[in-house]
Amino acid sequence: MKKFPVYAYQILGLAIALFGATIALRWIFQIEAIAHLIPGSEQMGLNTPLMFLASGLACVCLPQRQPPLQVLLRLCILLLMVLPGLTMVQHLFGVNLGIDFVRVPSMPSASIPYPGRMAPNTTLGFLCAGMALLLLSRPGRERRRDRLGMVAIAATMLIGLAALAGYFMRLDALYHLASFNQMLVPTAAVMSMLGCCLWLLRQHRYNPRQGGTSAYQRRITWRAGVVLTLVALAAGVAGFAVVRNVLEKALTDNMLFATTTNATSMANILDDRLAFHRTIVTRPIVQRQFVRLAANPQDREARDFLQTAASNLLTAGPSGVRMLDADGRLIAASGQVLRERAPLAQHLQRAGQNAYLVWQDDYLLYAETPVLANGHRVGTVVVEQPLPAFDKLLHVIQTSGDSTDALLCSRRQDAALCAPSRFNSGVTSIPAHLEGKAHDQPIHRALAGQRGVISILDLRKVPVFSAYTPLQDFGLGLVIQSDSDSLYAPLKAQTQLLTALLVALVALGTTTMGLAVRPLLERIERDITDLRLAEEKLAGSEKRLRSITDNLPVLISYIDREQKYGFCNRTFETWTGVPPQQVLQHHVAEVLGQERYVERQANIALALSGQRVEFDIATLGGDGTLRQLHTTFVPDIAADGTVLGIYTLSTDVSALHAVQRQLQQMARFDALTGLPNRYQMNEKLVEAIARCRRAGTPMALMFLDIDHFKAINDSLGHAAGDEMLKEFGRRLKASVRETDAVCRLAGDEFLIILEQLGSTAETEGIARKILANAGAPCKIQGQPLRIGTSIGIAYCQEQPLLPDALIDHADQALYQAKQAGRGTFRLILC
Ligand code: GH3
Ligand code: MG
Repeated sequence: MKKFPVYAYQILGLAIALFGATIALRWIFQIEAIAHLIPGSEQMGLNTPLMFLASGLACVCLPQRQPPLQVLLRLCILLLMVLPGLTMVQHLFGVNLGIDFVRVPSMPSASIPYPGRMAPNTTLGFLCAGMALLLLSRPGRERRRDRLGMVAIAATMLIGLAALAGYFMRLDALYHLASFNQMLVPTAAVMSMLGCCLWLLRQHRYNPRQGGTSAYQRRITWRAGVVLTLVALAAGVAGFAVVRNVLEKALTDNMLFATTTNATSMANILDDRLAFHRTIVTRPIVQRQFVRLAANPQDREARDFLQTAASNLLTAGPSGVRMLDADGRLIAASGQVLRERAPLAQHLQRAGQNAYLVWQDDYLLYAETPVLANGHRVGTVVVEQPLPAFDKLLHVIQTSGDSTDALLCSRRQDAALCAPSRFNSGVTSIPAHLEGKAHDQPIHRALAGQRGVISILDLRKVPVFSAYTPLQDFGLGLVIQSDSDSLYAPLKAQTQLLTALLVALVALGTTTMGLAVRPLLERIERDITDLRLAEEKLAGSEKRLRSITDNLPVLISYIDREQKYGFCNRTFETWTGVPPQQVLQHHVAEVLGQERYVERQANIALALSGQRVEFDIATLGGDGTLRQLHTTFVPDIAADGTVLGIYTLSTDVSALHAVQRQLQQMARFDALTGLPNRYQMNEKLVEAIARCRRAGTPMALMFLDIDHFKAINDSLGHAAGDEMLKEFGRRLKASVRETDAVCRLAGDEFLIILEQLGSTAETEGIARKILANAGAPCKIQGQPLRIGTSIGIAYCQEQPLLPDALIDHADQALYQAKQAGRGTFRLILC
């Protein structure tokens, strides 16, 4: 089965597309389980997941060549350019083109003022991704296009990473632009993934595994830089988050402590001053004067006393004193009382005294304290006095930091009424409700009796930390606030220093790595070059060796331990008819067939046991030729003695066998007549004697010699003699049975071995028949001739003699026949 390589960009692309599809399904079918599984996804409209689906699919399809996938790729890129493009137009020109798919009811919120619309940074991210995909999908590689693509990929990645870092560091400017929709956490995370996916895709698309040492060094340095930067960023962000949390905790604790302490001090001052006012009216001499005046309003002495007392009081701190009788008529006055004319008079909740905290550039305490005698109210003493300690304390608080302010407010109807402060020049009214909703400002919490610290936008819309507390039970609330920026300023300074340090470390790290890697790369390159040269050399020598083995008229092969072919030369194919691709790594039985394998199996086993084996075998080749092969199996023995395989060498010895057969023929037969020669005659005679001995039947040996043969030679020539010898041999063969052996002994001498004979008469009958047949007329070289012969017969009734004795007897009988005048036979019984 063909293996398809799986690349990281494909996995990432699929994951992105799957994410998009899942969120889109959640949106369409309102699947709550998905919303629980992916926090933040419930706020996502349909456009963002659709864009993720399109970009993920485009990443997967881009390098594929199949036409349907190319069409899908184009569609995805088109969608990635059009939808974000139109959304960008909506953002820039403040129009609604009807492409924000909204589910009812979707209410605008502070973070999502335009439900269903992609955030501007999300839109830009998708536009960049679409641009990168478009550039990557174009054939070839062009420097400018590549650079532009890289910028688009980097922008996509940065937008996602910046938003993620923003969420981590609570720097909402990184994910929330102006009053537009904010980029959501899952969008930021998957946008970063999309950037990574595009970068991996670019790497795959341009196949950067080329170039020399410098290109590799650049690539390694660049990648190390990216990785180190990411690690440094992650570490920096995590460190920043931890430090900021600690700092925030310390700051808020500190602010709350300071606010509570200061509120207590301010309340104590007010308490102290109000107590002073009470001491005035509780003096018995003062009470007596009021009683006298109540009885007699014309009492001049009492009136003068109180006027003097009022004047004297001014030396003790108050700026204005008024003494009134029970009906509110003025008895005595000194100094000025500003409450009525002051811009702000905050009523203080105090039993028995009608008191106000008056603001007129500085704070004044105004209190109306009743003068009581025997439980009856006989008059009222109004005292208004500056609160220098109070003012000083507030001043100290407000100037304790660059951006610190303190607000002192009281409730008036549905609003908090605050005295001017460092950043509020006039009296400020802070409503408790805005547009029907609670206006959650810290002062409202303080006036509700709560104490705490919150991070909030203040009235100037500046992010601040605000600590709030009530001022005892006076009905006043105190808020001390500091700008977040100024609180974080030391941390930011440290972070900048740390960032500079990290940048320097990353630069140092990447440069060091690049320099350290260069010698290694050079060495690898050298090694690769050496290896390539060695491979080329090896390939050359292998080619030579193969050419030699292929051109040798012998079959060479290698069979491994598993009896599979590891090598075979071209002769193998010629002789067996099996092509090399069906030989290599295939079992011998599979290649040669079961029958031929069985013939060689024993020898293979012997060779695999470590023995050298040589054998001859006949094999029918693929071309239909029957070949006699002389095969040698040489075991391939490793240094440790194990047999790794067998080298086989087979030589075609068919021609040699034919020659051998011919030589064998020549050694055993007479070349002139084709009859068995003396050598074969001896064998046949021994066998015949053995048979007759076993069977107990008679046998005979006839010794024949042509009469006057020399004369033929002399008169007609040697060739005619030869012709006569051949004709004589033929006639002898024709005169006896097939099973009787006719041999030429030498010259004109012939022998006939006769077996399974009856009596001597039968033998003599055969002799006569031979004489008659041989003597029949014939033509030798055109000359009419008759062949005369003499026959000597050695006849054995039973238990024949040994061959030599038998021949000897036949020879004697022949001699007798020659002596008897030739042309006859003689028989000797043995
Ligand atoms: P005899 O009747 O006593 O047998 O007389 P002969 O002439 O046949 O004499 P003998 O058998 O002794 O001689 C055989 C001769 O055959 C001698 C030799 O020259 C001749 N001869 C032997 N071998 C060959 C042969 O292969 N071809 C021919 N043409 N002549 C041969
Ligand atoms: Mg003769």
